[in-house]
Amino acid sequence: AVLVKKLFLQGTMVTVNQDITYETAEEIALEFNFIVEPEVKIDVIEELLKEEEEDESKMVSRPPVICVMGHVDHGKTSLLDAIRKTHVTDKEAGGITQHIGAYVVSRGGQKITFLDTPGHEAFTSMRMRGANSTDIAILVVAADDGVMPQTVEAINHAKAAGIEIIVAVNKIDKPSANIERVKQELTEYELIAEDWGGSTIFVPVSAHTGEGIEQLLEMILLTAEMCELKANPKRTARGLVIEAELDKGKGPVATILVQKGTLRVGDPIAVGPCHGKVRAMVDDKGRRIKEAGPSTPVEILGLNDVPNAGEIFVVTENDKEARNFAETFISEGREKLLDDTKAKLSLDGLFSQIQAGNVKELGIIVKADVQGSVEAVKQSLVKLSNEEVIVKVIHGGVGAINESDVMLASASNAIIIGFNVRPDPMAKSFADREKVDLRLYKVIYNAIEDVESAMKGMLEPIF
Ligand code: GDP
Repeated sequence: AVLVKKLFLQGTMVTVNQDITYETAEEIALEFNFIVEPEVKIDVIEELLKEEEEDESKMVSRPPVICVMGHVDHGKTSLLDAIRKTHVTDKEAGGITQHIGAYVVSRGGQKITFLDTPGHEAFTSMRMRGANSTDIAILVVAADDGVMPQTVEAINHAKAAGIEIIVAVNKIDKPSANIERVKQELTEYELIAEDWGGSTIFVPVSAHTGEGIEQLLEMILLTAEMCELKANPKRTARGLVIEAELDKGKGPVATILVQKGTLRVGDPIAVGPCHGKVRAMVDDKGRRIKEAGPSTPVEILGLNDVPNAGEIFVVTENDKEARNFAETFISEGREKLLDDTKAKLSLDGLFSQIQAGNVKELGIIVKADVQGSVEAVKQSLVKLSNEEVIVKVIHGGVGAINESDVMLASASNAIIIGFNVRPDPMAKSFADREKVDLRLYKVIYNAIEDVESAMKGMLEPIF
């Protein structure tokens, strides 16, 4: 009140909730015998999101980063093991292979990096933090089982991220294997094999006998070449945490994936609320290394605490900056920092976002009690597209709204429409936390009407 009065007497009308300029604040503070100092804070978010223009001439090709997705029990883990076994020889490893959450295989002098955590959940949870970890997804479909619900989830998670999909039809050693049936079933999801007139690469494999693994690697390299994956190795490193834990002897140990630049022993590093100096680096073959370039997974020592998987790391100028970065992250709170970056889409705010030009595409996930409803809702929704905004159903399926749906919505800034289904309890609280707009309907017409009204800015608010 004293300050407001002071300002008022100087001819400035303000309320207690208003911002004033630094200069004004400085002057007033002086009158009360205080000297103010501007707070110097790194803008953590800006730093994290900074995707500075890279000098094209400094970009060199880098290995592709691969993740393996698919329905449970279709052989994701077995396939990852089979690939590792065939290509990480004992000689190379000096006897020991380390499990650090990712590994690199070499084929004809070219490298491929595999993330060792199978499943689209791991992939999308990283994407929720703003990190794109993967270039190509290997979709594993068991030849004796065909397309299953999580196969469809995986397809849509990969598509929403805009990454390439290679289909590995696994378990072809089984007598009941039917490769053609898998091809036929996948046509429904726009994954059409070349011999069916499409352009998706299908590789029949057996994680058990090793058949087809070589071809799979070959196809990965071919796809990577087409994608022209590049990075600048001559800049300060940044990338993300794949996994981390507290080791009794070594302290916090984190496996990170370098995405840009080259990480070196001695580099000051900040990872979300953690910071430190890279004290030692060990690669996936258990070797101590001094530097790691783009697409290389390494285990690092030297952080003051254990970071979360999916957290982005940056190398800073000096130790002080790294600490400052981490402290800002803690003081501002990760939730808030992320909230600021996540202007979550909701039907209520849709119209103004369209008007502001922020939304060109409305992503929707549709879950319903029967497949017929999923299709009906999908078709009606897509028809609502106009010149300003395209309505796109990024995932549709039968059953309760689950955590994976919420993850996908959060990572893709989409909304969820449930139709005669409910969210399971975990999904509900997750959606609240992630501020994902989740709406439940009993009548198709009402759902369509709401989306249509929202697009026109005429949605009745619900209180
Ligand atoms: P995930 O849940 O997708 O990681 O699947 P797993 O890798 O755990 O495999 C599930 C089951 O399928 C295990 O019993 C494996 O031994 C078996 N399996 C995996 N790949 C093959 C294969 O190529 N052929 C046969 N016959 N069985 C396989």
